[in-house]
Amino acid sequence: MKKIIIAIDGYSSCGKSTLAKSLAARFGYTYIDSGAMYRAVTLYLLNQGVKVEESLSVSEALKAINIRFAPNNHTLLNGEDVEQEIRQMAVSNYVSEVAAVPEVRRAMVSQQQQMGAEKGLVMDGRDIGTVVFPKAELKIFLTADPDIRAKRRYEELLHKRQDASLQEVKANLAHRDHIDSTREDSPLRKAADAIIIDNTLLNREEQLERAIFLAQQAGA
Ligand code: C5P
Repeated sequence: MKKIIIAIDGYSSCGKSTLAKSLAARFGYTYIDSGAMYRAVTLYLLNQGVKVEESLSVSEALKAINIRFAPNNHTLLNGEDVEQEIRQMAVSNYVSEVAAVPEVRRAMVSQQQQMGAEKGLVMDGRDIGTVVFPKAELKIFLTADPDIRAKRRYEELLHKRQDASLQEVKANLAHRDHIDSTREDSPLRKAADAIIIDNTLLNREEQLERAIFLAQQAGA
């Protein structure tokens, strides 16, 4: 059976990873959360006290960082499971600044492209359809109303017992969306050939059904 690459991009907290995971499970594909990779780099820099302006230290850090995914999709930073830590607000508040650094992007994109060499992959992020896999057979651009996104993310954090207010979450999403879509290096854009799914009024099943249909049409 033919295997394809499915690229899912969109604003923060649109439910990209939920959709990507379900699609990967449905087709028996690998799922890669590219945002987790930028979050892992951010966690490393925060722990080392390195600021994004210190380009020599950032280069050194990149050489010392190894990011892998465990079979349960948890993110491993130099062998350590950091899945919980990378979702904390301290990381969310700095990750877009880190992800705007061209050298960081070069390192992550090259690893992501290697992960896609075998096809049979669903990857979500901000530049997957435009930069990482411009020839992906299916590109989905996910959107949702900003208030709904903030509410969903806030409830997710509450569920994980992580401390944040709805206001703080909303401000963080707006901040990241702004930096992600205005940075010079690979800004968040809908690829010309991406298909938009607005999930403001869709439940998970409806959204998944639509995406499965698109994936089958694309050859999955
Ligand atoms: O997907 P998630 O919200 O976890 O991503 C965290 C941050 O990582 C984004 O706000 C963005 O700054 C950065 N990112 C990126 N390119 C990607 C994926 C994520 O710049 N492909």
